[in-house]
Amino acid sequence: MKAFKPHLLALPDYPYTARQALIKLDQNESPYGLPPELKAELAARLEALPLNRYPEMHAESLAERIADFEGWPEAGVVVGPGSNTIITALVAAAQRVLDVHPSFALYKHAAELLGAPYRAVPLEEGFKLPVEALLAALAEEESPGVFFLPNPHTPTGHFFMQDRVQILCEAAAQHDWLMIIDEAYYQFAPADLKRQALGQPHLGVLRTFSKAWGLAGARAGYLLASEEVARVVRHLLPPFGIPAPTALAVELALEHPGYVTEAVEKVRRERERVYLELKAHPTWTAYPSHTNFLLVRTPDARAAYEGLLKRGILVRRQDHIPGLEGAIRVTIGTPVENDAFLQATFELAKEEKEIADAASED
Ligand code: PMP
Repeated sequence: MKAFKPHLLALPDYPYTARQALIKLDQNESPYGLPPELKAELAARLEALPLNRYPEMHAESLAERIADFEGWPEAGVVVGPGSNTIITALVAAAQRVLDVHPSFALYKHAAELLGAPYRAVPLEEGFKLPVEALLAALAEEESPGVFFLPNPHTPTGHFFMQDRVQILCEAAAQHDWLMIIDEAYYQFAPADLKRQALGQPHLGVLRTFSKAWGLAGARAGYLLASEEVARVVRHLLPPFGIPAPTALAVELALEHPGYVTEAVEKVRRERERVYLELKAHPTWTAYPSHTNFLLVRTPDARAAYEGLLKRGILVRRQDHIPGLEGAIRVTIGTPVENDAFLQATFELAKEEKEIADAASED
């Protein structure tokens, strides 16, 4: 195949394998979604939608609603069909990409796809932000680029403190980088960086409707940035790229943000419960989290994953990531789903022990 750029032919697939299961805790989705009365309202609005017409070029009406909701200048709001597409557009625009390690897999994947020079600085012990090493990286690259920092962090669930992140924002501005704080999970965390980003052209905030809003299937995310950054990113997104039904669903959700506050409250409460109950587990340990998922260290990620799947529970393995040996990631679901997960983890511990005891008798 000579038609394509040669590096694309050898590119690894995006690290996700779809599996069927009764209880789906593998993609950090909301277990709740739109409340029934909003679903009914959405159905009525969809019925009146002229699907023979193209949607707006860059979902301008939705961008305006988001600007109102966030208190952000409209010219700096970019809407994409999922924040994934905005990440890819930012990488396409970037001279180079700076990341931490581990991190959200797409930053690296997009850099490889688009041939952007990529560098990742490892997190410190305890998933701490490597401020000194990142300052050095921002200063020493021969040209600036885009620096992605997910906060709260994925896949660990760790929250980087504002004062430490702020040091990096200042350095990014000083060396002319664009720093993007990926706040996919900000509703589950104690703070966010929007206020600091307002009026700071070297800082952008990326958000999504896929997590707390419960609209992953609609596909919508947005960037809050300077007018100049927003204009370039819009150029790199396909025109008419937000389907009209998606814009409808998101506009409706923005009219009723109360349901999100409630869902977030439930998920946070459940996250703390699951975290605390896992403390009694003999071999599995959960890390503290400020997201809607928990990173859990097990003695054997494959056995944990398969054992849970046998009991109808789908989680995500993370043990392919250096430093995360034995780790799985579990999304916080409904209380019933979380109970099923907890029960399964303790059953698996019993099985582990029986196997170990049998082996020691041999
Ligand atoms: N950023 C982070 C940190 C994520 O975890 C995800 C989804 N897993 C995304 C961005 C992409 O979200 P979406 O494309 O659904 O908006």
